[in-house]
Amino acid sequence: MSENVTSSIPLVRRTLTGEAREAALARAKSLVQIEVGDDLAYDVSNITHGVFSPLRGFMTARDCSSVVQHMRLANDTAWTIPIILDVSESLARSLASGRTAVLVHQGKFVALLEIADVYPFDRQEIAAHVYGTLDTAHPGVARAMKMAPYLVGGDLMLLNEPEDPYQDYRLTPIETSLLFKEKGWRTVVGFQTRNIPHLGHEYLQKTALSFVDGIFINPLLGEKKVGDFKDEVVLRSYKTLIEHYYLRDRIVLSIFRTRMRYAGPREAVFHAIVRRNFGCTHFVVGRDHAGVGGYYAPYAAQEIFQHFPDLGIVPLFFSAFFHCRKCGGVVNEKTCPHDASMRVEFSGTRLRKALTEADGQADQLIRPEVATVVREWANPLIEIEEIDMEGAR
Ligand SMILES: [Zn+2]
Repeated sequence: MSENVTSSIPLVRRTLTGEAREAALARAKSLVQIEVGDDLAYDVSNITHGVFSPLRGFMTARDCSSVVQHMRLANDTAWTIPIILDVSESLARSLASGRTAVLVHQGKFVALLEIADVYPFDRQEIAAHVYGTLDTAHPGVARAMKMAPYLVGGDLMLLNEPEDPYQDYRLTPIETSLLFKEKGWRTVVGFQTRNIPHLGHEYLQKTALSFVDGIFINPLLGEKKVGDFKDEVVLRSYKTLIEHYYLRDRIVLSIFRTRMRYAGPREAVFHAIVRRNFGCTHFVVGRDHAGVGGYYAPYAAQEIFQHFPDLGIVPLFFSAFFHCRKCGGVVNEKTCPHDASMRVEFSGTRLRKALTEADGQADQLIRPEVATVVREWANPLIEIEEIDMEGAR
């Protein structure tokens, strides 16, 4: 794989410095305020630093509708997930297109919003198209149904970085692109994860890495569902894996600060677009990428890419992988001829069993150093719903 795919989409940068920032902060004091929670505040940071390029702000009615129905912005650029700002009816009444509002997070001005439009929307339409179901047992649908009734579209300008306990682990697309260049990498594969790394992940990563110059491990930290691993556990376990099992000059680790949508195929494309913006040329798409429960067909997240030849990043598709006792290692459906009785699957249930029980076959699933880190937590999993919907209500 020697092709050097470079994106034709310019990186968005909507930040201010020096006097321009001081003037904007002074102006913000007299503007209508929109309170945002952590999740929206991180979206603001992602938009203004170009993680969500070509978006310059929250979606207008035209873009939102086009994304929901056609998986493209109104100008036909590929984009599969609505990036939207919801507000209450009373707040919507105080906002008008052509005016500027200020977004406030934890008492601090984070960004100016040049209001393009304020519009009502259909929660069910979004759920049906984006998640492919109206079942509120789906965490993405449940969240969509709780949104406030109006959306505000318009360009953003960052004033202050939102408070984030993981700020030190975030790199902007400008920083990652520069880092890849400094390392002399012409090809970089991006790896999305919301989990602790088991041997199957490592096998995937290293198989992909063997064809390119470097790997960008980019764990998603943010709101997730009950039963997923806590952010801190994911980050610490990756740092440990990298320390013991990776060549330093072949890997970059930084986090992607956003929430999981569990939108399966659509989210896989969204995840690929984001990694293109970070400067990756390739992106790993595994089985049931960004899926939840049984809502999506196992390889739907790979098949969807045939509709997007214009992403500017090459998806690398992998089959399901597992440990085979006969083969004596990690294999997949394409490489192992043995029957199911020889297999140890990398399921969440199996992994939890391996970590909590003495003879849980942990050595077949996870590196001992990583297991040691995870076992430091009495419960490494998210136990209560952490949906953070205060803010724009
Ligand atoms: Zn086998």
